[in-house]
Amino acid sequence: MSTDKLNARFLLQLAFSVMLMCSAFMTYAASVTNARVWPAPDHTRLVFEVTAGVEHKLFSLSNPSRLVLDMTDAKLSTDLSDLSLKGSPIKRIRAAKRNNKDLRVVLDLGRSVSPKSFLLKPNEKYGNRLVIDLFENKAKIVTPRIVRSVDQQNQKRDIVIVIDAGHGGDDPGALGPGSVREKDVVLAISKELKVLVDRRTGMSAKMTRKGDYYVGLRQRTGLARKQNADLFVSIHADAFNKPGASGASVYALSKRGATSEAARWLAKKENSADLIGGVGSVSLDDKDDVLAGVLLDLSMTASLRASLGVGGHVLRSVGSMTRLHKKRVEQAGFVVLKSPDIPSILVETGFISNPTEASRLKTRKYQKKIANAIFRGMDVHFKSDPPPGTLLAYKRYSNLASLPKKYRIRSGDTLSGIAKKNQVTVSQLRKENQLRSDRVKIGQVIRIPSS
Ligand SMILES: [Zn+2]
Repeated sequence: MSTDKLNARFLLQLAFSVMLMCSAFMTYAASVTNARVWPAPDHTRLVFEVTAGVEHKLFSLSNPSRLVLDMTDAKLSTDLSDLSLKGSPIKRIRAAKRNNKDLRVVLDLGRSVSPKSFLLKPNEKYGNRLVIDLFENKAKIVTPRIVRSVDQQNQKRDIVIVIDAGHGGDDPGALGPGSVREKDVVLAISKELKVLVDRRTGMSAKMTRKGDYYVGLRQRTGLARKQNADLFVSIHADAFNKPGASGASVYALSKRGATSEAARWLAKKENSADLIGGVGSVSLDDKDDVLAGVLLDLSMTASLRASLGVGGHVLRSVGSMTRLHKKRVEQAGFVVLKSPDIPSILVETGFISNPTEASRLKTRKYQKKIANAIFRGMDVHFKSDPPPGTLLAYKRYSNLASLPKKYRIRSGDTLSGIAKKNQVTVSQLRKENQLRSDRVKIGQVIRIPSS
């Protein structure tokens, strides 16, 4: 570091200390006690922990590009220079006092952003928070949901599984003993699961989040629709106020959750225009409300049945390697399970509040094991019930078609006649049935190989 830089750093620290000292003698309505930065692929979230719901104003300035955050009657009680800004559009964060009372925070930007700010109420882990989201101004690519046409159904596409690691960023999820955090455990399991899915021919996986940042719940299901997912699987870990609670569980949407969601979709028709891929690509747009309701209900009923089906397989598979909390697929109104046309399940991989399970859940070995169990359940489900138009469906049904047919000999039948009718040769028939001659008896059952 050059002397200039050292000096600048020293002055900055001095200014900061003076600010802290001055503010120590004054009273403020609010104080910023901590700050965090969560860079995500499409935006960066900046979180300020504040002692009370602080009044604030946010505006942009250009040349050079910067964002100014003014907080009324507030003081800074933390050091912002410690924040890691790697991967974010922020080059530097500065803070200063204004009019002796207000706090001004300036973000020097390296890239242009669209900012948004809002207050978050206290949760289990944090108190009041002021959140600044910086959305990167990349060209917006609108990907509509592709409705599968009959033509595409003949293709051998991959089964698409969207894996949703719960929580992330400023939402740590459940917290366990030894500072095990749900958001870390479920991301690790989700990544293992993605590897397994991608390795299987005919399947591919997408993730709703790939790092430690938060993604909105509706955004997660929205991503599944955009990807045309065949299955949405959300990974979580449970918590309970008694440390004894243990075991894994699998959830599907409750009937009541489905009904209220149907009402919600019908209420906002602009969203439902491209819905109902599940019932023969019918759009809700041009239907009257009653018919639209019936179609939506059919789609949700079908999705729910599929969810319970795949959920059952996953539950049995997980149950073969760990204790189960409940012996059957449970149903609840979780928002991430509410896609009307995508089978969706939520797996609680264990109780992070249980010391034994928490210590297991944080090991790589166990994360791999549980990911493997979830994968096996899905694999069994899709092998027996592959969605139309997929490679797995093609394999399964062409396999069935290539199985030898059975035929019972009637009077007047000859082996050469049967061979001709089924476009096979007599020697193929003899070989398939281990016949020593061409003679057959009435009532005899022979196998006819596929031509
Ligand atoms: Zn969770």
